[in-house]
Amino acid sequence: MNNVFPASDLIEGKLSALTPPARLAVMGDPVAHSQSPGFQNAALVAAGLNAQYIKLHVRPEEFPSALRALPEAGFLGANVTIPHKAAALANVDQADDYACRSGAVNTVVVDGERLHGFNTDGPGLLRAVREQFSVDLRDLRVMLLGAGGGAGRAIAVQCAMENCERLVLVNRTVEKAQSLVEELAPSFRSDRLLGPVDRLQAIPHEEKFLREQLAFTDLVINATSLGMKRSDPAIIPASLLTPNLMVYDTVYASGASRLLEDAANAGARTANGLSMLLHQGALSFEIWFNQPAPLEVMRAALNPVPTVS
Ligand code: NAP
Repeated sequence: MNNVFPASDLIEGKLSALTPPARLAVMGDPVAHSQSPGFQNAALVAAGLNAQYIKLHVRPEEFPSALRALPEAGFLGANVTIPHKAAALANVDQADDYACRSGAVNTVVVDGERLHGFNTDGPGLLRAVREQFSVDLRDLRVMLLGAGGGAGRAIAVQCAMENCERLVLVNRTVEKAQSLVEELAPSFRSDRLLGPVDRLQAIPHEEKFLREQLAFTDLVINATSLGMKRSDPAIIPASLLTPNLMVYDTVYASGASRLLEDAANAGARTANGLSMLLHQGALSFEIWFNQPAPLEVMRAALNPVPTVS
């Protein structure tokens, strides 16, 4: 149940012989590492649905035709991962407001010949934060590192939609964070937080700026692509981490990332990206089947990727 199929198998109608029938897929390039088939297939079995979720290796040039081949091949929908989330938004017939604002679709629903796009990354993070820290994004002053990336943008838009207390967008290329600030500014135009700092601002990913802003932060989220390898540079210098912080790393390696290790040593509360992965998948299941996902079955089927040294 864990094979990778080429996009040509979908486009040429060669998947019809699979048992249970292939009805859902994750489309990506690369895709072999994807955790989604493991927990989505466990959910399908638990829900008594005669369907299989497969991995489809889809290169960028194949993506539009592969997406359009889903209805004819009898698929109910698909997940879309790196590097196709923006192309998915451009190629679906309609997308919900959050997917449009995030500039990305990670969940596609087949409705006759039409394709509907959704994005469950931000709502998945929202649920993960609630589960891990027993608190809602809307009550938090958030510092988001990696705000210029795809996951960072999705999380920033979710924070804006939740009207969180405060949002500091940190990015190595600060211009990207700055343009996101301009886009999100209307959501933060109120005097909800009375204090010495702006409710929404962009800063470069540099120690001096991090130090200043961490004093006005409750939750730090790492959405940079750093952290999978133990040899990656520190995302935040350990000396800046304090016990009052909550630190969420979207990376979902099995061992603690360097950031989470430093944060735990400083006495902060920590969580890694497995819970976001789980909840974005559970939300996709709920969108496809309009029924609650068997969350505990999916959680038990999660199989974290080992940390690379
Ligand atoms: P992406 O689009 O490539 O964005 C990468 C981000 O990291 C950019 O903001 C980039 O800054 C920053 N960055 C890269 N190298 C850096 C460095 N050396 N120092 C500082 N910043 C650096 O990647 P993505 O698709 O958003 O993914 C980001 C992370 O989110 C990945 O670790 C992924 O595993 C995780 N993720 C997790 C889940 C989940 O369910 N848990 C879901 C989605 C993504 P610049 O703009 O300056 O290049």
